Amino acid sequence: MRDRYARSITYLRLSVTDLCSLRCRYCVPAEGVPKRDHRDISSVEELVEIAQAAVDCGVRKVRLTGGEPLVRRGILDICRGIAAIPGVEELCLTTNGVALSQLAGPLREAGVNRLNVSLDTLRPDRFAYITRVGRLEDVFRGLEAAAEAGFAGMKLNVVLMKGFNDDEIPGFVDLARRYPLEVRFIELMPIGQGRTAQFLPAQTVLNACPALRPVEGSGVARRYRSPGGQGLVGLIEPMSHRFCGSCDRIRVTADGKLKPCLHSDQEIPLRGLHGEALRRAIQTGITAKPERHHMDETGRSEAGRNMHQIGG
Ligand code: SAM
Repeated sequence: MRDRYARSITYLRLSVTDLCSLRCRYCVPAEGVPKRDHRDISSVEELVEIAQAAVDCGVRKVRLTGGEPLVRRGILDICRGIAAIPGVEELCLTTNGVALSQLAGPLREAGVNRLNVSLDTLRPDRFAYITRVGRLEDVFRGLEAAAEAGFAGMKLNVVLMKGFNDDEIPGFVDLARRYPLEVRFIELMPIGQGRTAQFLPAQTVLNACPALRPVEGSGVARRYRSPGGQGLVGLIEPMSHRFCGSCDRIRVTADGKLKPCLHSDQEIPLRGLHGEALRRAIQTGITAKPERHHMDETGRSEAGRNMHQIGG
């Protein structure tokens, strides 16, 4: 289905929980995420029903996110249910990688086609600092397990933070030279715990690695490759280069609210709706997509929620 600005909406980001196994300083409050009554969170059946209705409205790609999707009870049932919907061409999942060493194989068997792993540093001490509770070796083991399970074309999401990981840009770029994966540098957004003082434009990557050469392609990332490199480097620039004109996505939070735009506080409740009523609510959400988000390096997001409550 097309929205009011003729954008074709084909991508659903479906959050399955707002809980997370890490507490990244720019995302989750220091005290962690209060556990909600499970009745406040969409059930496995509701999530599959929402995905089905979104597919009826033209969605072709579904990404499971969170919170951390791998801590969600029933995650494999959710994957199986959505993978079985005719019309779902891609089922993707974004994870912090901590539980991947146990779950990579089962996720693949449950029908997940692609994995994005968030990893902001390659240094164990920094990983422990930024995540407050995490161990880098768990993520490395998870990445190995994912490769063994047959996940190809994995993406590593790296949020750029001034004074935290800017000196690691060449190391990440080198990873994308040596391995067939895409390292995607993402600009820190002023949402949740994200602080503008740490903002670093994605252009910094090109300044630090002048050998990178642009690669043709579409989507939200500008893509580059190192000479002779196996993988790609992507720049995702929600702040300095708005990509709203090509936005093809809607988001649904774990408590069943459709967000037409990440940075808008507009939410359309989906819980309790079925069949035609659910499809109509999703169509209303698609129609309500604003032309662009209203946020820059100086302003806060108007999302009204933290990132772990939306799913990125
Ligand atoms: N737990 C999963 C993970 O770690 O990928 C999925 C949810 S997490 C909220 C999704 C993505 O949002 C992660 O890559 C995270 O780094 C990113 N993120 C969170 N807060 C952000 C912010 N303020 N600016 C930019 N990216 C952010």
